Amino acid sequence: MKAIQIAIDGPASSGKSTVAKIIAHNLGYTYLDTGAMYRSATYLALKHQLDGSRVNDILDLLATHPITFNKGTEGQQTVLVGGVDVTDAIRQPDVTNNVSWVSALPEVREELVAQQQRIASQGGIIMDGRDIGTVVLPDAELKIFLIASVEERAERRFKENQKKGILTDFETLKEEISARDYKDSHRAVSPLKAAEDAIVFDTTGVSIDGVVEFIQEKAKKIIDKG
Ligand code: C5P
Repeated sequence: MKAIQIAIDGPASSGKSTVAKIIAHNLGYTYLDTGAMYRSATYLALKHQLDGSRVNDILDLLATHPITFNKGTEGQQTVLVGGVDVTDAIRQPDVTNNVSWVSALPEVREELVAQQQRIASQGGIIMDGRDIGTVVLPDAELKIFLIASVEERAERRFKENQKKGILTDFETLKEEISARDYKDSHRAVSPLKAAEDAIVFDTTGVSIDGVVEFIQEKAKKIIDKG
């Protein structure tokens, strides 16, 4: 059976990773969370107190602390930086609120995009991020751009945080999500935008199963065509 590339892009908390993980599992594909890679670079920069003027030092750290993915005890994906588990650390507010400046550095993007393309060359892949359909996998057979109202996205994130025992203020969350979208959409290099040949899907009011079904149906049609 033909293995294809599936690119899923969209703004913060639009449900990309949740649906991508399920589809990867169903199709037996590799799932790559590119946001986790930019978050890992941010984690390294903050840990070593580097700012945007020290991009060469950030690149050195990325070279000496490779980003890898593993499976946790409950089958969940874990993220390692230089062999250290940073799965939880990269979701903390300090990383979330700094990731936009790190991901706007062209040299960091160049390095991480090269890593992402290497991983994608190994077979069936579903990747989520901001520039997958436009830059990382421009020839992907299926490109999806997920959107949802900022209220709904903030609500999803609020519930997720509640489950994890993280207390957050709903309005602050909404502001943070909007600010990150603005920065990601307005940066000079690889801004967040739908590829011309992407299918834009508004998930406001749609269940996770509904989104999975929509994307999987499209994927199956392409795979079956061979
Ligand atoms: O997907 P997630 O919200 O974890 O991504 C965190 C941040 O990483 C985004 O806000 C964006 O700044 C950056 N990112 C990016 N390009 C990608 C994936 C994520 O610039 N392909």
